[in-house]
This record gives sequence, C-alpha cells and structure tokens, in this order.
Amino acid sequence: MIVVMRMDAGKDALEEVVEKAEELGFSPHVIFGKERNVIGLVGVNGKRENVGVIEEMPGVDRIVPISKPYKLASKEVKQETSIVDVAGVKFGGDEVVAIAGPCAVESEEQIVRSAQHVKAAGAKMLRGGAFKPRTSPYSFQGLQEEGLKHLATAREETGLPFCTEVVNPRNVDVVYKYTDMFQVGARNIQNFALLSLLGQTDKPVLLKRGMATTIEEFLMAAEYILCEGNKNVILCERGIRTFETATRNTLDISCVPVVKEKSHLPIIIDPSHSGGHRPYVTALSRAAVAVGADGVIVEVHPEPDNAMSDAAQTISPEHFVKLMGELKAVALSIGRYM
Ligand code: PEP
Ligand code: MN
Repeated sequence: MIVVMRMDAGKDALEEVVEKAEELGFSPHVIFGKERNVIGLVGVNGKRENVGVIEEMPGVDRIVPISKPYKLASKEVKQETSIVDVAGVKFGGDEVVAIAGPCAVESEEQIVRSAQHVKAAGAKMLRGGAFKPRTSPYSFQGLQEEGLKHLATAREETGLPFCTEVVNPRNVDVVYKYTDMFQVGARNIQNFALLSLLGQTDKPVLLKRGMATTIEEFLMAAEYILCEGNKNVILCERGIRTFETATRNTLDISCVPVVKEKSHLPIIIDPSHSGGHRPYVTALSRAAVAVGADGVIVEVHPEPDNAMSDAAQTISPEHFVKLMGELKAVALSIGRYM
C-alpha cells in the first residue's frame, strides 16, 4: 500500500503518518518525489484492517494498493527515475555513466594503470574484482583484501570511485571499509542473506541480473535490499542464458525498456559479460546507450591478452577510447550526454 501525501503536506504531517504506520506494525518507507511524497507501507505484520485511520490524517490525500509483487522498486511508488549518487557520480539523470576497469585486480600497478587509462577516456568510475566468483574452484579467486587496498590506491591516484563485488555475506564488512559501491554478481542474485545485509548498509549496490532470472525476479531481488532501508540500488543487465552459444550470454536489450516501465531504479548494461568477446563490445555498448540504459560497465585491461580472468571479452585502453567517442555521439542523439 502507498500513502500518497497531498502536495502541500509538510514535514510534520509526513512524520505523523510514519509514526502511525509503525504503530500499526508496518515498515514505512518515505519516497520523496518531485511533486509529492509518498510512504510505502510494507511488512507482513501490518494491520491492514486499521489502515483507514491513516487515510483520515492531516496531509494525506489517499491510500492506494500496490498491485506489483515488488513494492518499493515499483514505478507505482515513484514515477521518475531515482538518482543514485555514488560518491558524487550520479546514475539515473541525463548523464550516461561509464564504469570501466579489469575483471579482476591483479596488482597495484595493474589497477592504477587501468584507472588512469579509463579516466583519461572519460569513465566516471573504476571496476575491479577483489573477490572473484569463479566457475572452477581452481581458478584465480582474486587478491581479496589486498585487492581492495589496491583499488583504494587507484582511487587516491585518480579520484575515480570504484565498485567491487562482494561474493560472501562474511565479507560485507571488509568490502564496506573500502568500496564506494558494492557489486552483487549474477550468481548471487538470489542470495537473500547477502541482499538483506547490503540493505542494512548505507552504500549503493550494483545488482547484476542472474543468467536465469526473470525481470520480475530481478526486481524482487532489488526489493530485498530496498526493504531493509537502502534505497541506492542500480540494476545491471549482463546477459541471460539462452540456446545461443555464439555469445557468452544473450544480452536482453529489451530488459531496459521493460524495467523503465516497471521500476524507478536506474539500470545499466554490461556489454562484456553478455557478448563475451571483444569484437562485440562496441556494438552492444552502442545499443545499450541507444536503448536508454543509464550507463555501461565495461571490462578494460592495460594488457588484455594477459588478463587473469575474462581476457576474451576484455578490451584495450585504445579500444575503450574509441568506444567512448562513439557512445558520446549516441548519447547526444537521444538527448543525453556522457
Ligand atoms: C564481473 O563483473 O566480473 C562478473 C563476475 O560479472 P557477472 O556476475 O555478471 O558474471
Ligand atoms: Mn569478469
């Protein structure tokens, strides 16, 4: 249910409704809109039969049910796209944001060089995995906390904030210490314990769609984070598994307009894990910007042939410079900028 406040309702009226909702056993979530504010009433213990009293309170316009299974992620609670601010970088506005960097942090020198290259090309954020979820337990698992320290050094050297994956609920605290944005990988999309823990933190979360996740399940996963109080969720479409084997995954480009219709959360595209091959990265990135994604996350390595993970899809700094030039033109053509 959402309590829609009147346009002229003040802070006091809002606070009184929040208090009353808590008294009735709901978890109230205030969503500040451009024109009016609404309060999402969620929680299994809320006394729905008594909600009529809220409708009579000062400043309240009406109460409407939310028809979707996801509530706080739904467009029904907020019409305009939410702006998620990651250390000053804003996702969801007119700017299309590029996040770039290697699949994995391999050394301080490698991540600092990567950061310098991607920054020079116009990326606003750095990426790099310190905890890597690998298909094989015998593959490189990442430098872990040492990798986080190298990412922090790269941030100091370049001023670029970074995102990095947290694979295990055990590592939320250590990743929190360093990162600007948590990344939840495709394999963890329904790790509800991890999602709930991240919802209790105050750092933004980049939530990657699973390879076998419907859009509804994707939004339900976001709901696990939102309902714990963390409103800063950015979605990421990174390809789903289909019968096609020519690409690593199949980029579900239609996910973007569908999510834009159903949710107020920003969404970006990962052309690297979807295509899985360097020659496809440019075309998929162009498509991402053209279809209305709020950003891209691209794997770039100073020496892609020597990348310790995902070399086949990792592009060079020169390739990335050219890509950014093309993406800027696509962004301008749809009234946005990079
Ligand atoms: C990654 O970003 O390096 C990664 C492992 O991605 P995904 O979770 O989408 O496979
Ligand atoms: Mn990767």
